[in-house]
Amino acid sequence: MENSKQMRTWLDDLHLDHPLVIAGPCSAETEEQVLGIAHSLKDTDVNYYRAGIWKPRTRPGNFEGVGALGLKWLQKVKAETGMKTATEVANRAHVELALEHDIDLLWIGARSTVSPFIMQELADALKGTDKIVLVKNPVNPDLALWLGGIERLHTAGIKKLGAIHRGFSTYEKTKYRNIPEWQMAIDFKNKFPDLPLINDPSHITGKRDMIFDVSQTALDLNFDGLMIETHHDPDNAWSDAAQQVTPDKLVQIMRDLKIRKESD
Ligand code: PEP
Ligand code: MN
Repeated sequence: MENSKQMRTWLDDLHLDHPLVIAGPCSAETEEQVLGIAHSLKDTDVNYYRAGIWKPRTRPGNFEGVGALGLKWLQKVKAETGMKTATEVANRAHVELALEHDIDLLWIGARSTVSPFIMQELADALKGTDKIVLVKNPVNPDLALWLGGIERLHTAGIKKLGAIHRGFSTYEKTKYRNIPEWQMAIDFKNKFPDLPLINDPSHITGKRDMIFDVSQTALDLNFDGLMIETHHDPDNAWSDAAQQVTPDKLVQIMRDLKIRKESD
C-alpha cells in the first residue's frame, strides 16, 4: 500500500522507531494488579498503558469496572513507571474525571461510536483538549458512522485524533470474535492517510493464540500501531480472559513481528 502521508501527526511527534504499542489489562481489577502489570511492561516497547475502568458489558450482571478509583491507580502507574496512561471514556462525567486525573490517551469504545448522541456529548466534553483521542470502529461495519464520530471530534477542535480497528459483529459463526473486514480498514486508511490507525487484535480475535497473526496482517497493511490486552494471569481476568496475553508473551509477540519500513 502506498504511504501518501503528507502531514506530521501527533504520532510522528512521538519519534518512535516502531509502531505505537498500547498494552495493559482489559479491566483494572485491583491496585496491585494494575501496578504489577505496569511494572512488567515498563522496560518494553509499550508506549501507553491501558486499563478499562468503566466497562461496557454486553449483558448486565458482569463486572462493570472499578470506576473512578482506577484513575488513581493509573496516576500511580505514571508516577512509578513513567509510562503514559490510557482509558475508555463513554460520557461527559468520564471525560471530566479522566482529564482531571491527567490520563494521556482516551479511547472511545465500539458501543459508543455507534451513537451520534454519545459522540456529540463526548466531542463537547473533550472540546479543545490536547490529549490523544482514539475512536474505535462502531460494532457494525458502517464506515460512515465511524467517520461521522471522528468528524464530530475534529469539529470540536480535538487535534490529536486517531482510530482503532477492533473488528465488527456478525451473526455468522467465524473463527473471529469480531470479523476484521480488512477492506474497510484499508478504505479508511486510504481516505485519511494522516489519521493514525491502530489495530486491536485482542477484540478482533477473542483468542490469545491468534493475536500474533492478526497483528502481523495489520502491520503488513501499514497500520500505525497495536493495542494488545495484557494481563499477568489472563485465565483469571475479570473480563476478556480468553484473549489476554501475559507480559512475557507480549514481549515475544513484539520481538517476532516483522515491521514494515517506509522504504519496503
Ligand atoms: C476494550 O477495549 O476493553 C473494549 C471494551 O473494547 P471494544 O469497545 O472494542 O469492545
Ligand atoms: Mn476488553
